Amino acid sequence: MSPSIVRLLYLVAAVLFIIGLKKLQSPATARKGNAISGVGMLIAIVVTMLELEILSPAALVGGLVVGSAVGWWMARAVKMTSMPQMVALLNGFGGAASLLVGGAEFLKSELTGEQIPMDTGITIQLSLLIGAVTFSGSMIAWAKLQEVMTGKPITFPAQKTFNALVFVAIVALSAYQLYTPDAMLWPFYAVCFLSRALGVLLTIPIGGADMPVVISLLNSYSGLAGAMTGFVIKNDVLIVSGALVGSSGIILSQIMCKAMNRSLANVLFGAFGGSTAASGKSAAGLTVKSITAEDAAIQLAFAQSMIVVPGYGMAVAQAQHTVRELAELVEKKGGTVKYAIHPVAGRMPGHMNVLLAEANIPYDKLFAMEDINSEFENCDVAIVIGANDVVNPAARNDPSSPIFGMPILDVDKAKSCIVLKRSMGAGFAGIENELFYAPKTSMLFGDAKSSLTKLVSEIKQL
Ligand code: NDP
Repeated sequence: MSPSIVRLLYLVAAVLFIIGLKKLQSPATARKGNAISGVGMLIAIVVTMLELEILSPAALVGGLVVGSAVGWWMARAVKMTSMPQMVALLNGFGGAASLLVGGAEFLKSELTGEQIPMDTGITIQLSLLIGAVTFSGSMIAWAKLQEVMTGKPITFPAQKTFNALVFVAIVALSAYQLYTPDAMLWPFYAVCFLSRALGVLLTIPIGGADMPVVISLLNSYSGLAGAMTGFVIKNDVLIVSGALVGSSGIILSQIMCKAMNRSLANVLFGAFGGSTAASGKSAAGLTVKSITAEDAAIQLAFAQSMIVVPGYGMAVAQAQHTVRELAELVEKKGGTVKYAIHPVAGRMPGHMNVLLAEANIPYDKLFAMEDINSEFENCDVAIVIGANDVVNPAARNDPSSPIFGMPILDVDKAKSCIVLKRSMGAGFAGIENELFYAPKTSMLFGDAKSSLTKLVSEIKQL
């Protein structure tokens, strides 16, 4: 294949990645965006394999079939709530690939006695460092989320200083290797080992529920590692795709932190969810009004407008299909129904959008927080389904609250509010929610799916 055709096809692949990313911005076009990026990746793989004659065409097709089958099976089998773990594994594989390619290039030059230019040497060292940190960090993230190890932050005295020393040691060893071409191999192996240790050390102090932010950050690292490897093996499409993954990962991490009103540094080093009890007001002396499914059904059946606020509990209960049934019944009775989506509702970005899309709820009924907040005032009933922190007015009113300053859905401003959850238990932030004690709020206790099923059957009888 001529080099100009290869370059042209790489350019096509890069353009397809960018169009695909752009389409991921909206749930309505996200699937198409995914498919377009997939075609770009297919072109990139096939062109690379054919150009470098790495595999025979038969082996290439065989690899694609087996790889696609495994990917298809994994994507079908994974539960929605386990998606962050799956992404962690995939990031880890990306990091490991960069580590292996960078390492192989280094060892190849050692074996052949070829002198590596300084710029390539630096990118090899960066591939090793970032690839190894991504790999081991992602494996710890996976283990925490899969509950193979404790999800609580693991901390020890002078942890940050220790981590900084490990980092300095890696940089020093890398520099020694770079400036001493005849050095033995031990600094290379030491860099690989210490970088993997650093990935573990950086991830263990982070609370399990903060992992989605960390996974997004590790995703960014895997992109950076890929881009570095692209420089090592002089592959344009790897540089472009690595840079796209690197930048989109960091943007997503920032968006998530902003929506949680936390800094990235606080997520990475704050050991959130550890032994320190979250502050915030206690609910002592406040009373809660509970409601039966029969009474709640009457309220919903006669509502002119209803806003559904889904949260993590809806995902746990897998109640999205029953939510749609309820909404359709309310619409049949003449009410309008909209869905209010908080950017960090659930446990991963887009969690609610994906679940509601799975239940075939039209995208045009889903509204982002900033677009729907002004509508709560005129809404007859806001129905909160397994959401807690994202509707906690303490974020607006209580400066002592750990979530103070986090933008929330203004559910407390609705004319009335029905909250579906199992108990008075706290959400992710571990704090009381004064919304549940407000005079306009009624609590419908129970698993979200079974409460919704009762509501549906009650409304059908009205
Ligand atoms: P929360 O975690 O605040 O609350 C979820 C609520 O769901 C709980 O209070 C729980 O109450 C209830 N619940 C659990 N299971 C069920 C069930 N089967 N049926 C009914 N209710 C149930 O969820 P939110 O979505 O409001 O907020 C998300 C939180 O996660 C935020 O603090 C956010 O910062 C954080 N986060 C989000 C990320 C993201 O990307 N989306 C990433 C990392 C963190 P009970 O036990 O009483 O039923």
